[in-house]
Amino acid sequence: MSRTTAPLGPAEIVVDLDAIRANAEVLREISGVPLIAVVKADGYGHGMVESARAARAGGAQWLATATVEEALVLREAGLDGPLLCWISSPEVTPGATYAAAVAAGIDLSAYSVAELDAIAAAADRAGRPARVQLKVDTGLTRGGIPRAAWPDVFARARAGEEAGQWQVTGIWSHLACADEPEHPANAEQEAVFDEAVALAEAHGLTSLMRHLANSAAAILRPSARYDAVRCGIALYGLDPAPGHTPDIGLVPAMTVRAPLMMVKDAHEGDAVSYGQHWVAERPTTLGLVPVGYGEGIPRSASRPGEPEAAARVGIGGRLRPIRGTVCMDQVVVDLDGDRPEIGTEVVVFGPRSAGGPTAQDWAQACGTINYEIVTRIGGRMSRTHVGLR
Ligand SMILES: *Cc1c(COP(=O)(O)O)cnc(C)c1O
Repeated sequence: MSRTTAPLGPAEIVVDLDAIRANAEVLREISGVPLIAVVKADGYGHGMVESARAARAGGAQWLATATVEEALVLREAGLDGPLLCWISSPEVTPGATYAAAVAAGIDLSAYSVAELDAIAAAADRAGRPARVQLKVDTGLTRGGIPRAAWPDVFARARAGEEAGQWQVTGIWSHLACADEPEHPANAEQEAVFDEAVALAEAHGLTSLMRHLANSAAAILRPSARYDAVRCGIALYGLDPAPGHTPDIGLVPAMTVRAPLMMVKDAHEGDAVSYGQHWVAERPTTLGLVPVGYGEGIPRSASRPGEPEAAARVGIGGRLRPIRGTVCMDQVVVDLDGDRPEIGTEVVVFGPRSAGGPTAQDWAQACGTINYEIVTRIGGRMSRTHVGLR
C-alpha cells in the first residue's frame, strides 16, 4: 500500500491494482491478441505508473500513452518493453524530447513527412535508429495521416527504413463509433484501414503490427482486433459501451470514499445549498459529505428540478441522493430519516461490491461518460494503491 499524494481533505481514492491486473487478463483472453494497455492521462485517474505495472502483471505485452512525455515517465519508472505514444508534432515537440524517446526505445507515431523528418533528426542525435508506427486517418478525422498524404508518408517511411533511420513497427488507426457496435462507420473504417495496410505493403512496409480496436471494439468487434487491441477504459474495469457490453467479469478498480461529516434534520420547506434549488417536501434527515467540484465531483450531478435523476452515494448499503447544488468542498445527501454515526463511510462510487453507485451511474446522472468521471476525479483527495504484492 503506497500513498502517492499528500491528502488535503478527508476524502480518498483507493485503486485496486489486482483489479487492473485481472482486467488485463480478461481482455487478453477475450480478444485472443496481444494487449496494448493504455495508461494515458495518469492512467485515467488511477495512477499511470502503478496502472502500467498492474497491466504488465496481467500480461499486457504493450503499454501506450498519449504524449511522448508520459512515455518517458514510464521509462524513468523502470517500465521496459514495448511502449507506444501518439501525441507529438515537429512544431511543438522539442527535438530533445524526440531524441530522448528514440534513446528510450519508445515507438513514436508519425502523422506526416515533417514528423518523420523530425524523427530522423532525433535518431541522428540519439545515435540509434528510431521505432516508428504509422497512424492513418480512416474516418475519425482527428489525428492521423490524411488519406491523400498516405503515398508520400509511406514512401518517406520506407526510404528512412532503408537508410537505417528507423524501423517501421506498426500501422494503426482509431475508431469513431466503437461504442455503437451497429454503427456503419465501424465497417467503413475497417475497410479504409485495410486499404492503408495494402498501400503500405505496396511501398515495401511489410510485417507491420496492425491495430485499430479500443476497448469497445476489442470486446464487441472481432473483425477489428487485427494484431493487437488498445484498451484503456476496460483495463480500469469500466464499461466502454454501456448497454452493449456483455458481462465479461471486468471489475472497477477505483473506489472514492469519504467520512460522513454531519447529520441534521430538515423540516418541510427547508431549502438546500446554493440557489435553494431543492426544497424538502416533508421532514427528513440530511448528511454532509466532504467532496465537491474541488475533488472533481461534477456540479452537473445536482440535476436541479429533477431530484430523481441526481447522482447518489452509498451510505450504510443504501443509495442516498444528492440534494441541491454540488459545492466546491461538499455535497448534501438525503438520509431519509436515518441517522448514521458521524464518520460512517460514504461510498461516492466504486465497484458494486463497495455498496455504492458506480462511476457509470455518475456518468449517467451527469450526462457524460464514465471516462470523464474517473479521469477528472482527484483534487484534494489522497490516492492509495492496494494489491499487487
Ligand atoms: C484513449 C485511446 C485508446 C483507449 O480507448 P478506450 O476506449 O479507453 O479503450 C485507444 N486508442 C487511442 C488512439 C486513444 O486515444
